[in-house]
Amino acid sequence: MTSVTVVGAGVFGASTARELARRGHDVSLIEQYTPGSVRSGSGGDTRLSRAAHGDVDWYTHLSQRARTLWLELQEETGTQIWEPVGVAWFAQTDNGFEAQSRRTLEAAGVACEWLSPDDARGLYPSLAVDDLSAVLYEPDSGVLYARRATQLLVEDGLRHGVRLETRAASVADAPPADIVVWACGAWLPKLFPEHVELRISRRDVFFFGTDGSWSGTPGFCDYDAPFYGHGELGGLGAKVAPDVPGAEIDPDRLDRLPLPSLEQAARAYTAKRFPSLADAPIVGSRVCQYELTGDTHFLFAQHPGRDSWWLLGGGSGHGFKHGPALAEYVADCVEGTREPEPFHALGPRTGNAGLRTAAVG
Ligand SMILES: Cc1cc2nc3c(=O)[nH]c(=O)nc-3n(C[C@H](O)[C@H](O)[C@H](O)COP(=O)(O)OP(=O)(O)OC[C@H]3O[C@@H](n4cnc5c(N)ncnc54)[C@H](O)[C@@H]3O)c2cc1C
Repeated sequence: MTSVTVVGAGVFGASTARELARRGHDVSLIEQYTPGSVRSGSGGDTRLSRAAHGDVDWYTHLSQRARTLWLELQEETGTQIWEPVGVAWFAQTDNGFEAQSRRTLEAAGVACEWLSPDDARGLYPSLAVDDLSAVLYEPDSGVLYARRATQLLVEDGLRHGVRLETRAASVADAPPADIVVWACGAWLPKLFPEHVELRISRRDVFFFGTDGSWSGTPGFCDYDAPFYGHGELGGLGAKVAPDVPGAEIDPDRLDRLPLPSLEQAARAYTAKRFPSLADAPIVGSRVCQYELTGDTHFLFAQHPGRDSWWLLGGGSGHGFKHGPALAEYVADCVEGTREPEPFHALGPRTGNAGLRTAAVG
C-alpha cells in the first residue's frame, strides 16, 4: 500500500483522493478552507457538463467517462448532483467551434442534433435566433450541482478511508507521504512559482428570477458571444455568465462582489437572447476565478525536482465536469501504469485549443 497525500479538496483533488483510496492506497486529503468553499473553482452552485470540445476528442471521451461516474456517484449515494437537461450550443457560423464539435461527437458516437434556428426555438420559452445559423444540441449532457458534488466526493472518499485534514500545506513543510499530489487550483502558482504558469482570472456569474416555464430548460453556450448558463435549476434561477477576459486576482483576497459593468452585460445579453427574461430580476450572483493555462489544456505533470510530487490543475474554466474521470487518469499515472499526456506538461504553452466556452482568454 502506498501512502498518498492530496493537497486541495476541489473537484480535482477530491476525485483523486477518492479514486486512490478506492484502489487501496492510504490517502490523506489536506484542505486549507472547506471542501467546496466558494473561494475555490469547484465551489460554484452549478457547472455545465458537455461533450463538445471542438476537434479535441481527448476531452470528449473524458467527459463521457466522467458522466458515467457522476451518475454512479449519484446512484450510490442517493444524492442528486446531476440535472439531465441537455446542453445547446448557439452557432453563429456554419464552420466554427460547434461544427467542429459536431464532427467529433458523431465520430465518438455521442448523441447530438444539429437543429435549424427555427427548430431550436422550442428548447426555451423564448429564444432569439436571428443571428444563429444552427444549434448543436447534446441531449444527454446536463448540469452538475458543483459544490454539492465536490462535498459528496469528499464524503464518499472518507467512506473509503480518506483522512481529511483542515490546514494549509506548504512546500517548506511538505507532507511526508510516498506520493504527494498538489491539486491546488488557483493557488498552484503561489506554491510553485518557478514551475507553474497560470493566469488567475475573475469570473462573474448571475442568476435571473424566472417563472416556472424556464425550469429544466437546457444549459447553453454561446461561444462567439461569449456567454453560457442554464435555465431555472434547483431554485437558483436561470444562470447567465459572461465569459469575457477578467482581471487577474488573488483568490484569498478577492471581495466576491459582482462588477456593475458585467451585470449590465449579463442583463443586455439575456434581454437579447431570451427576450421574455428582459425584465427579470437578478436573484443571485457569484464571483469566482479561472486558473487558465496558455492553451486551455489542463496541467498534470511530475515536479521537475521531485519525482514523487505531482502537480495537477489548470482547469481553465472547463475542468469540473471531468473530475472523476480525470482522477482515473491521474491515479493510473501515479501508479505508473500510464504516461501523462504531453499536452498536460509544465512549461510554456503555444496556441489556444479553445476548450472552454469562449475562444478568447
Ligand atoms: C465561474 C466559473 C464557471 C465555470 N464553469 C464550468 C462549467 O460550466 N463546466 C466545467 O466543467 N467547469 C467549469 N468551470 C471550471 C471548474 O469549476 C474548474 O476547472 C474546477 O472546479 C477546478 O477544480 P480544482 O480542484 O482544480 O481547483 P479548486 O476547486 O479551486 O480547488 C483547489 C482547492 O485547493 C485548496 N488549496 C489550495 N492551496 C492549498 C494548500 N496550500 N493547502 C491546502 N489546501 C489548498 C483550495 O482551498 C481549494 O479548495 C468554471 C469555473 C468558474 C470559476
